[in-house]
Amino acid sequence: MYPAAFEYLKARSVRDAIAFLKQHGDDAKLLAGGQSLVPMMKLRVARPKVLIDIHRIADLNYIREESGAIRLGAMTRHVQIEESSLIREKIPMLAEAASKIADTQVRNRGTIGGALVQADPCGDYGAVVLALNAQMKCVGQRGDRVIPATDFFTFAYSTALETDEILTEIVMPLPDKCSAGVYLKLEKVAGDFAIASAAVQLSLDSGGACNEVGIGVTGAGMVPQKALAVESLLRGKTMSSALIDQAGQLIQESAEPIEDLRGSAAYKKKALGAILRRAIREALQRADARKPS
Ligand SMILES: Cc1cc2nc3c(=O)[nH]c(=O)nc-3n(C[C@H](O)[C@H](O)[C@H](O)COP(=O)(O)OP(=O)(O)OC[C@H]3O[C@@H](n4cnc5c(N)ncnc54)[C@H](O)[C@@H]3O)c2cc1C
Repeated sequence: MYPAAFEYLKARSVRDAIAFLKQHGDDAKLLAGGQSLVPMMKLRVARPKVLIDIHRIADLNYIREESGAIRLGAMTRHVQIEESSLIREKIPMLAEAASKIADTQVRNRGTIGGALVQADPCGDYGAVVLALNAQMKCVGQRGDRVIPATDFFTFAYSTALETDEILTEIVMPLPDKCSAGVYLKLEKVAGDFAIASAAVQLSLDSGGACNEVGIGVTGAGMVPQKALAVESLLRGKTMSSALIDQAGQLIQESAEPIEDLRGSAAYKKKALGAILRRAIREALQRADARKPS
């Protein structure tokens, strides 16, 4: 199907894009990689009268380490994240998540900003930004603001971003050197959205007790969730199989997935428990190799 007719505007800078948004209000949509928006327009689920193309704004495409954090411009493509040696070294779970998105074609065009604003309940980055306590930098007519990842996702396909705001940067605080992370995803077929996924970042002290821990999950409900109860359960404790089983049980019991083509609610709860247990075990193995002696 073809999309409904629309006007196409090319923004050369963030300031341009904000001015266009101000001018066209709710009639306008930003176009990043187009990997979610264009299919929605073709299905006529989205019918923006004006498309503001931001993909030529070079200032929004970067990956850099600065002030104890990895900073990613919102227009950074999935493939750049997957292949970045900086990300692979400092935040491997982020590269792992990017590499599990769809297929090469989508990863070549799709952007981290677009994926986060799209806020698909089964998307891959949500769990990661929550595990890492990332912050979203936004710019609008009223100025700049920072939204913590924990406040960003408000409902399925909805975020705390105002319609006249642009997500410009994602700031991921660098995990401690002793810390290790992992992102695991259960999908029906390779490249599909997640049935359940878990991002686990943790460190161990010299005695083998869990020091710092951050956990985000997808598949527990209509938004990705920070698994605060599981983090509290693990923090300060000596890790054991029984504790990991308890963590899986806890997330399983609190999850409220909906039944859809990817499975029943009961199946998805079990899948989430299983994927979280696996992710914790794998993160533990990686963290064990880095723990202080
Ligand atoms: C076949 C297929 C399979 C996929 N599988 C997965 C998957 O397994 N996991 C996964 O996570 N994703 C998956 N996706 C989605 C993919 O990650 C998209 O790249 C992403 O959802 C949207 O990014 P985009 O840059 O293409 O944004 P667009 O489609 O251009 O925009 C998406 C939305 O975000 C808004 N927007 C974009 N950028 C900004 C910004 N900087 N500030 C404010 N608003 C903005 C747009 O206005 C629009 O509403 C899949 C997509 C396809 C087509």
